[in-house]
Amino acid sequence: MSTILKETRLIMNQYHIKANKSLGQNFLIREEVIEAMIDSSQIKKEDLVIEIGPGLGTLTKNLLKKAGKVICIELDKNMINILENRFSNEDNFEILNQDVLKVDLKNLIETKKNTGEIKDVKIVANLPYYITTPIIMKLLEEELPLQSITVMIQKEVADRLIAIPGEKETGSITYSVYYYAEAQDIVEVPKESFIPEPEVTSKVIKLTIRKEPPVNIKQKDTMFHIIKCAFMQRRKTLLNALVNTKVFSSKQEGIKILEQLDLDTNIRPEKLKLEDYANIAKLTHK
Ligand code: SAM
Repeated sequence: MSTILKETRLIMNQYHIKANKSLGQNFLIREEVIEAMIDSSQIKKEDLVIEIGPGLGTLTKNLLKKAGKVICIELDKNMINILENRFSNEDNFEILNQDVLKVDLKNLIETKKNTGEIKDVKIVANLPYYITTPIIMKLLEEELPLQSITVMIQKEVADRLIAIPGEKETGSITYSVYYYAEAQDIVEVPKESFIPEPEVTSKVIKLTIRKEPPVNIKQKDTMFHIIKCAFMQRRKTLLNALVNTKVFSSKQEGIKILEQLDLDTNIRPEKLKLEDYANIAKLTHK
């Protein structure tokens, strides 16, 4: 039995813990996966690492050895007790008993950065899968001063997030991730790497936040609104989807705009580059 598995079982027995399914609790028990997450996030002593959902603290233990400061955000009070007992002696450890979706991360990061001890801020987490997308969108859309986000998520979602727009797995979220970050596929993680086993295969991905967006657009909100409309009706052509959702005031206007941009009038939403959506936004923005 691996050391991590033994340690996990021991802690669970000691504290009478049963994984809470509704909180997405699947505890990591594979050393190699933890190493891959730590190595790919390239943590330095002057980094602040924010860990979302530390659970029993398996990843936390390794993060504390590498980072200048680790702030854990955990919703489950039972976990807080365990984490405090395990790590409160470490002076770079801090914990918040909160729902990550409700935390004012901008303010939290600013406060830590103002101490002058922190240079870069990184997110490292084995995310609760029931809220993967809202967490990632919060981290990106709030335009936090992050350097990178290294997370374990469901493989199916991971493949959509890291696709280059236009590739097979493209969904509307692909464009958002691509706008804010460069994505990397780190490692695929089988179900047996957790207790209890999740229902799906997982993947670790790394998003490195871009310093400049890949398209230059003032009407960013319009562009993302158009992308959302395009994918609301996935089996439709882009033209029909954007006419139905009133992005184009008429079919004639839509055809004119698509022809102006050298796009086939029968093109499907997932075939467009981000730049194409940016151009449609510029032409339709009133
Ligand atoms: N990091 C641990 C590991 O790798 O073994 C546990 C990961 S487990 C997949 C997800 C963790 O997120 C759980 O500890 C769960 O309690 C916590 N969690 C669930 N919802 C949360 C939320 N809204 N905010 C913060 N933490 C949450």
